[in-house]
Amino acid sequence: MVKAVVGVNWGDEGKGKIVDMLSEQADVVVRFQGGCNAGHTIVNDYGKFALHTLPSGVFHQNITNICGNGMALDIDKLMEELRDLKSRGVPEPKLMVSDRVQVMMPYHRLIDSLEEARLAGKAYGSTQSGIAPFYSDKFAKIGWQINEFFMSDGSIKEKIEKVCDIKDVMLTKLYGEEKIDRQALFDNIMRQREMIAPYIGKTEEFLHRACKDGRTILLESQLGTLKDIDFGIYPMVTSSNPLAGYGSVGAGGIAPYEIKQVIAVTKAYSSAVGGGDFVSEIFGSEAETLRRNGGDGGEYGATTGRPRRVGWYDCVASRYGCMMQGATDVAFTVMDDLGYLDRIPVCVAYEKNGERTTEFPVYHELSQCKPVYEYLPGWKCDIRGITEFGDLPAKAQDYVNFIEEHLGFPITLVGNGPSRKDIIHRESKLSAG
Ligand code: GDP
Repeated sequence: MVKAVVGVNWGDEGKGKIVDMLSEQADVVVRFQGGCNAGHTIVNDYGKFALHTLPSGVFHQNITNICGNGMALDIDKLMEELRDLKSRGVPEPKLMVSDRVQVMMPYHRLIDSLEEARLAGKAYGSTQSGIAPFYSDKFAKIGWQINEFFMSDGSIKEKIEKVCDIKDVMLTKLYGEEKIDRQALFDNIMRQREMIAPYIGKTEEFLHRACKDGRTILLESQLGTLKDIDFGIYPMVTSSNPLAGYGSVGAGGIAPYEIKQVIAVTKAYSSAVGGGDFVSEIFGSEAETLRRNGGDGGEYGATTGRPRRVGWYDCVASRYGCMMQGATDVAFTVMDDLGYLDRIPVCVAYEKNGERTTEFPVYHELSQCKPVYEYLPGWKCDIRGITEFGDLPAKAQDYVNFIEEHLGFPITLVGNGPSRKDIIHRESKLSAG
């Protein structure tokens, strides 16, 4: 059975923990899109880890972890994470890298940061990990599928010439930079291919077989619906599709009909990184308090350390997020962080040009939307350690029930703490019906 764990909103919803938890029953965990521009935070018996490139099943020795073809593979980052795990006592994980995954090149990172600097105040808020130039090259057919690193020296050099002829024009004319050192690029390919060679495999054949054999496969996505290149807040998005539906492309070998469960993860309040209108965003001391209380030790990026933008729960964006993911289950995380509030605002609709709507608009209309809030009473206590939904304070139960009603998708998991065991299973009338 194939399950996907995906984000409903802007990312950082707590997907890592859900994957880590579900890994206990999984045989395979696959990352199918994106690169090291976002990270999952996982807290387990080995400590606290921010994984940016490795799939979250790496803490379980029985799991095969796959970097799928849809990823933006940064080989040096992958190796760095493997070394970090080893140095902290985690046994060597089973890891397989698709022979069709494309590789992040040094000039992708360089161009990403040069472009952010050129755009200055109008920048997209990129993490400068090279993601946009990487995916642009993939679709312009000047990217590097990892198998091309194993061509003859002559063919590699020929390709370097072809690609650098284009990149050099951009670097010198648009950014006033030096041309690419072609020999250094070649040497880098040689160095990286030696490190990555032991991990490369035909992942599509492996996954096809795993499906046929009825193994449990988890598809793990980074970011969330609102950062999707097609359905997110374009152009303030990432350059790939973090949707479960993309899982069968980005993790080749998995037929679309094999994905039986889509666990869409959403946080009990909102947070976002990068630019773009964010309707229920809050500012000033109200935001600072939520940021400080949020996540596990505050809302600061796992990869960048940047303070995240925060706001109240947005039912409009989240209903849309669940719909586009095709959520069969909703995991509602980080409930425990709201225990300090007397009353909790929830954005239940947008007001757009004097009219109320619950449909998420296209991006350029988002700036015309104002949040319509309803206020729920806070439960004013610590809910960590509670294991049954019925044992939560009535006001905390009401908060979950209220959100579920506005989402129209079944909340079957509630997160009340950062660790794997801090999760409450909830029966939903929606899933029953
Ligand atoms: P991801 O990218 O979706 O995996 O999200 P991140 O890992 O970047 O952010 C989620 C943060 O919230 C991490 O620090 C997690 O340890 C933490 N977290 C996840 N679930 C919960 C929860 O239910 N309660 C609390 N307090 N923290 C949580």
